[in-house]
Amino acid sequence: MTVFSRFRSQPAPPPSDLALEPSLLQALSVAARGEDRGDSPIAASVDLLREAGVLSGAWTLTPDCTARALMRVGAANLSMGRLLEGHINAVQLIDLYGASPLKSAVRHQILNGAFLGVWGADGEPPLTTGPGDTQLSGGKCFASGLGAVTHAIVTVNSGPQVRLALVEVSDTQRADASAWDMLGMKATASGRYDFTGVPVSSCEWLGGPGDYLKEPYFVGGVWRIAALQIGAAAGLLDCAAARLRAMDRMQAEAQKARLMSVLTRVWAGMALVERAAVAASEPDRSADQIVSTSISARLFTEEVALDAIRAVEQSLGLVHFTGTSETGRRARDLSVYLRQAARDAFLQRAAEVALGQDAALWGVFE
Ligand SMILES: Cc1cc2nc3c(=O)[nH]c(=O)nc-3n(C[C@H](O)[C@H](O)[C@H](O)COP(=O)(O)OP(=O)(O)OC[C@H]3O[C@@H](n4cnc5c(N)ncnc54)[C@H](O)[C@@H]3O)c2cc1C
Repeated sequence: MTVFSRFRSQPAPPPSDLALEPSLLQALSVAARGEDRGDSPIAASVDLLREAGVLSGAWTLTPDCTARALMRVGAANLSMGRLLEGHINAVQLIDLYGASPLKSAVRHQILNGAFLGVWGADGEPPLTTGPGDTQLSGGKCFASGLGAVTHAIVTVNSGPQVRLALVEVSDTQRADASAWDMLGMKATASGRYDFTGVPVSSCEWLGGPGDYLKEPYFVGGVWRIAALQIGAAAGLLDCAAARLRAMDRMQAEAQKARLMSVLTRVWAGMALVERAAVAASEPDRSADQIVSTSISARLFTEEVALDAIRAVEQSLGLVHFTGTSETGRRARDLSVYLRQAARDAFLQRAAEVALGQDAALWGVFE
């Protein structure tokens, strides 16, 4: 029995459309240690996914397969999972808002080595089309995958009329990974990217002004973040249990009770994420229902992941905090990744939909 047992015993669909072989996940897991230390770039893990057909497979993924794939990769290597989520999100945005020739061109580019990201968080100054609309001005912060992402979908001119543009981002002179002064997720090579002076004519525009904010595709997609969070929580528990077994401490009743009660909640989180993912593509669902379920999945996985970190700290004690501790690194990465935008506002929004009106309580469980 492993932390993923619930999914193996499921009668219905196969675990993932993607070729996520155990050997691939193991290779990603091993690579994560060196990537965190800065010994090897995360681009090598991106290559592993490309060689396995995962990057080009992003075009055909169903939502439940996406959820399971992100859980698995998040459990093996959360930083790589973060980058894969960006790639999948970008592919979906191009599929949703891109013109047909652009879709074909991007498919071709991915087969030839392109790796995508979505950079929405604005830097100081924010990204705009500049005076005269001829050259981009400003930049992005928290941009993940500097040096690995070849093309990013960026938000331009923030606000209700925000536009989406696909731009090449391979110019290392414009990237500043030193801006990521965080205790975790160092391997994501996140930081600033300065677009100032990039010709507006080099942007491939996606959709019209404001399309990016349309639901259920915007907030309605945060279940992908939740999938990574819950997968990483499972990976952390797996790693902690293995360490406890090696120390001959997993048989203690206190350890079993503490870790199993969290694992049960992790499984519940996986189920909620899957439900949110599937609901996002059900035609008879309202955007409000999809958004509130997606938010709930994200906030629930945040809570459960915090519980998992706490339980692992209590179970392992000080060895968890040594510089070379594998559980320590995983917990650091996870606690940073749990910090996603506007959690309190999202909770209010979900509550307004589910509790603020008659007959809405069952949501997507109707
Ligand atoms: C590893 C990692 C990779 C990332 N990669 C990318 C990327 O590639 N592209 C990208 O665009 N972004 C990326 N991001 C950034 C992400 O999209 C969010 O911008 C970021 O995670 C927001 O975190 P925050 O804690 O600053 O959120 P905030 O929204 O600032 O929330 C922090 C806390 O502040 C409080 N708060 C917020 N607003 C209010 C308010 N109005 N009133 C009262 N309290 C308030 C809430 O309690 C909240 O929990 C990444 C983030 C991480 C962690």
